[in-house]
Amino acid sequence: MGRIAYVNGRFVPHGEAVVHIEDRGYQLADAVYEVWALFDGKLADAEGHFARLERSLSELSIPEPMSRRALTIVLKEAVRRNRVRDGLVYLQVSRGVAPRDHAFPAGQVRPAVVITVKAVDRAAAEARAAKGVSVVTTPENRWGRCDIKTVGLLPNALAKQKAREAGAAEAWFVDELGFVTEGASSNAWIVDGEGRLRTRDTNANILRGVTRLTLLDVIREEGLQVDERPFTPDEAVAAKEAFITGAGTLVLPVVSVDGRKVGDGVPGPVATRLRRLYIARAKATAI
Ligand code: PLP
Repeated sequence: MGRIAYVNGRFVPHGEAVVHIEDRGYQLADAVYEVWALFDGKLADAEGHFARLERSLSELSIPEPMSRRALTIVLKEAVRRNRVRDGLVYLQVSRGVAPRDHAFPAGQVRPAVVITVKAVDRAAAEARAAKGVSVVTTPENRWGRCDIKTVGLLPNALAKQKAREAGAAEAWFVDELGFVTEGASSNAWIVDGEGRLRTRDTNANILRGVTRLTLLDVIREEGLQVDERPFTPDEAVAAKEAFITGAGTLVLPVVSVDGRKVGDGVPGPVATRLRRLYIARAKATAI
């Protein structure tokens, strides 16, 4: 059975799914998106991703295409039709289709909705986490509203390509003060010399990662110390451990930054434990 996509109210074969050439998401990146991890066919951190989606839409004055309840039903139906147990659900909502013009279209335009589902090989993901990944750094060059999860991802795509060409899994953006903001598709963390966890605060120009937020809960429940404040690449190299978080990566140990070893150059006990705890929490609360 092939993959099925959802496009504006219809489930269609993935290869035949199309959007209009004047979709504002396509022409102007006037669209937002969300990604949920799937565990056993269920949406992980559902509430956090819905809340962020609603906020992203509201910040851009794009109307909600449907209620949260209706969207949950459509997302779950997309998952069911694709028969995916472990994977990722992608949702994109654009302002809609209108003659090309930078300013918003006059009058009511229906937001355009696309959903796709893909399977993830969890065994391969666990093997990757057990080895850890490398990151490279790159100058921060994104716009000032990275808190909105828009499809305007060209700087992220270029950063990720830079990482790939260096044999790394992720690129960390570094701001003009020399601090890591976040990854191209993940939030960045270290475990410092004193064993305190550190990740950038959300007053900075970063995405408010849903995985990050849940992990902060897990960390506090575990009685671990956490500082929401920035770190430099040098501090990451001097740290005991580093890792990244995101719906795609969950909690993934980082073993080198720009070719320089972090800690012993192998995944550390804190990141490894937090990965296990995060996955257990995500599974237990998935809907
Ligand atoms: N930062 C960026 C730039 C991202 O694109 C993502 C996820 O795609 C994240 C952080 C992690 O966010 P979340 O944990 O909500 O997936």
